Amino acid sequence: MTDSCPNCVRRGVEPSSERREVDQIVHRYRCQACGHRWFTSRYLPAYSELHGRRGESVDAAGEAA
Ligand SMILES: [Zn+2]
Repeated sequence: MTDSCPNCVRRGVEPSSERREVDQIVHRYRCQACGHRWFTSRYLPAYSELHGRRGESVDAAGEAA
């Protein structure tokens, strides 16, 4: 998953490494334009919960129709 550089706002920076932990996934980035380094962590259970809610809303809409 690409990200934008928080320093020079370059878009579409590819992660230089990806590390998966128990409940989150960490991407490390290095901007090729300015050399700035940063990382992002995404909390996995929050994503699965979001998908679950989407599934429920689709089912409810089907019953109503
Ligand atoms: Zn940059």
